[in-house]
Amino acid sequence: MRYDVAIIGAGADGLAAAALLARAGRRVVLLERAPQAGGRCVTSEFVPGFLVSPYADTVPSPPAPLLPLLGLTHLLEDFAPVGADIMRRRGRALARVLEAALAPAPQSLWQRLKATLFVQDERPWPGADWADQSIAALRAHAGQNDWRTALAGRAIDPELNGSAMALFAAPQSRVRRGGVGAAGAALQAAALKAGAELRLEAEVAEILLLRSGAGGVLLADGTRLEAEAVISTLDFKRTFLALFRWSDLPPGVLRAAGAWRMSQGRARLLLALAAPPGFSKPIFVSAGEEALSQFRHGVPPSAPAMLVDPVSARDPSLAPDGGAVVTLTLSGIPPRLFDGDWTQEKRETLLARALERLAPLKLPRLVGAATVLPADVEQALGLSGGDLDGGELAPDQMLSFRPGARTAVPGLYLAGPSSAAGPLGLGVAGLTAALALMADLSARSGR
Ligand SMILES: Cc1cc2nc3c(=O)[nH]c(=O)nc-3n(C[C@H](O)[C@H](O)[C@H](O)COP(=O)(O)OP(=O)(O)OC[C@H]3O[C@@H](n4cnc5c(N)ncnc54)[C@H](O)[C@@H]3O)c2cc1C
Repeated sequence: MRYDVAIIGAGADGLAAAALLARAGRRVVLLERAPQAGGRCVTSEFVPGFLVSPYADTVPSPPAPLLPLLGLTHLLEDFAPVGADIMRRRGRALARVLEAALAPAPQSLWQRLKATLFVQDERPWPGADWADQSIAALRAHAGQNDWRTALAGRAIDPELNGSAMALFAAPQSRVRRGGVGAAGAALQAAALKAGAELRLEAEVAEILLLRSGAGGVLLADGTRLEAEAVISTLDFKRTFLALFRWSDLPPGVLRAAGAWRMSQGRARLLLALAAPPGFSKPIFVSAGEEALSQFRHGVPPSAPAMLVDPVSARDPSLAPDGGAVVTLTLSGIPPRLFDGDWTQEKRETLLARALERLAPLKLPRLVGAATVLPADVEQALGLSGGDLDGGELAPDQMLSFRPGARTAVPGLYLAGPSSAAGPLGLGVAGLTAALALMADLSARSGR
């Protein structure tokens, strides 16, 4: 069976890419190793009657001008409005990654897309280099000469806990009802309606390299699927180090993928409560003094930093009548402990310590709880080290320092959170990779 495009992973990026390419008349197969699509955009029952989105409570809204490409204009209504200044910054960053993605396209295609994509009154792309502008903005925000230290140190934004992305990412938005799974379901419906083929429990084990470049995929069950091009939504490291024979790759790619740093250390504790808590907005609890040293030494933290989010206060559909769902997002969690894995007993200790710190909030009775540690994220989503951001958010791995949609392997395109477009919003990396692919195909056929 020969397809135009094989897409690895049916998270937001894979679904968005599939919807766009299928709408453009391409024959698309979407391969997902899990029994359901959505990736991190899922909402599931973790205690009977209680629902939660295990990996994230909020998703950054897709930029409004991209939604018509997916036939999902209504989806934006589910997101909180984004401030005008952030819209401008996102517009510029988006323009830059799309300009790169569309570069070889004939001028007419680029002009048409430009006219539909960009926010009103916004110049299509910045005159100065985006990365330089970003670093200048970081410096100004940190207000110190040593801005690297300033960024690595105390939190600028408690929710992102020191991440410089706080300055550039869209403000954390929300899906009003149904958790972030509602956004995943809308994207899945768009991909299927457009005619993409979705195969579940279809794990990709290898990207096929033909003489001309990527030519399809080999599934873990031995099925071989040929395609003109492949889009990987897996992270940069996993795409190149796990899906190729290393000897087949250009050495530069191997070096770059090997040197890419994943960051680990976020955990989530999901609480089902017998009654709503006495607060309706998220609360940030800062770390104890010993947290950093415990993280470095692989010891479970005695007083971790955490964001306490009463998610069912803004989305009552998550909890049964009278009950409540609260999530704790912890940072500084060692992915591995000095004496081995996170056993059930150690998970329970982490939960008990977190609850102890929340004693002043007088939480209602706990009906049930679940823990999501980096190893769980890695196992569930196939992200190296369980890193949801696709790589450490250090200045040399952000924005245009992240890999673009095109790769050194002809016919292979990178979407997913490691790519430059990853932080720009839900599904944007998938759309960018799909646009780059379409631009290359139309340039090749001279249209
Ligand atoms: C710094 C930063 C911050 C961000 N903040 C957020 C945020 O707070 N919330 C948010 O939702 N998004 C956030 N994003 C955006 C995010 O990258 C995208 O919006 C999107 O949610 C990620 O979707 P995905 O499809 O790339 O990956 P995922 O949702 O991780 O989906 C990947 C899919 O691939 C599947 N898979 C893995 N291995 C294989 C295999 N071998 N074969 C087949 N299938 C496989 C997995 O099962 C999974 O379904 C952020 C991005 C960055 C970089």
